[in-house]
Amino acid sequence: MKVLKFGGTSVGSVNSLLNLKEIVEGQSKPTIVVVSALGGVTDLLIKTARTAADGNEDYRELFESIVTRHHDIIAGVITDRTGELLKETDTLLAELSSIYQGVYLIRDLSPKTQAAIVSYGERLSSRIVARLISGSMLHDSRAFIKTERKHGRPVLDSELTRSLVVEEFRPEVLGERIHVVPGFISTDKHSGEVTNLGRGGSDYTASIIAAALDAEALEIWTDVDGFMTADPRVIPTAYTINSLSYVEAMELCNFGAKVIYPPTIYPVCVKNIPIRVKNTFNPSAPGTVIRNDVEDDRKPIKGISSINGTSLITVTGLSMVGVIGVNRRIFTALADNGISVFMVSQASSENSTSIG
Ligand code: ADP
Ligand code: ASP
Ligand code: MG
Repeated sequence: MKVLKFGGTSVGSVNSLLNLKEIVEGQSKPTIVVVSALGGVTDLLIKTARTAADGNEDYRELFESIVTRHHDIIAGVITDRTGELLKETDTLLAELSSIYQGVYLIRDLSPKTQAAIVSYGERLSSRIVARLISGSMLHDSRAFIKTERKHGRPVLDSELTRSLVVEEFRPEVLGERIHVVPGFISTDKHSGEVTNLGRGGSDYTASIIAAALDAEALEIWTDVDGFMTADPRVIPTAYTINSLSYVEAMELCNFGAKVIYPPTIYPVCVKNIPIRVKNTFNPSAPGTVIRNDVEDDRKPIKGISSINGTSLITVTGLSMVGVIGVNRRIFTALADNGISVFMVSQASSENSTSIG
């Protein structure tokens, strides 16, 4: 059994959805397909929410563009004479419209409301994909991807989620069919409120499911030929890397290789499940495989990545020299505030500590 994840661009247009259908229907069954929101829709959902919260009437026009986007895609890919999918879609969109109106009237956008709003992206796209793939079964990941609040943000409850995933996809349900799952979205294990796994989190949903079910592979289908030596939008001469170890991929992803959401690697790495990065627009390209035992290609540098929005802080002072526990105090303060440190260096004279 394999888990295939299709990102925003792979579900963003009529053409890409038809490619997805062909790729998925060509797989041996059972197969689990995790999908993102239609490309650009999550950004649009957030922009509309912020516009409404600012009391700006333009939010209505933005909302209409979300409606049109989904209607156009449905008209382009679904030959559904009953109009059932359109009805279901419009029910969800009507709910969303009411939420936006509430935000506009109250002029307030809490994190809870924003999480509810962005969840519509994957809830809508997964319905479309499930309808597109004949005989598939749609699941609701809010029922089995569970988070808890830590440092003010939702964090996956791995153990609870694992057991719920195993139950959701028990052998008699899994059968010989294709299953469609919305990525990214989850619920709080105590309150049941809708949460999510963070931007780009559909990759993580797919990895969590693949690990829980001991899948034979996790495939990340995207808009480039594989994991490349650099971001092709920044470095046009970047080329595809055939294979990477989990550790190499983790390093590159944590440092900005957006092609895989960083937390994705860990669940499949501990189960030794290979990750394949493939191109929805060029399915015959071999892509990249990420696994434990990669042959040494003797290249000292596998790839280059970069990150924005990072703080580098240096704590310095002669009074730090020889004082035991200074670093403990720095790191405790950071941990208490939920700040993750990805790089540390301390001068051997002990008069400064730098952290990223
Ligand atoms: P998806 O919608 O499929 O999740 P993303 O936009 O999240 O797609 O990730 C794919 C994009 O990641 C590519 O279009 C590419 O521009 C960017 N990217 C950044 N670094 C790399 C890299 N090292 N290799 C491949 N793609 C990269
Ligand atoms: N739709 C979500 C986002 O844009 C999750 C994802 O695409 O992985 O961040
Ligand atoms: Mg992504």
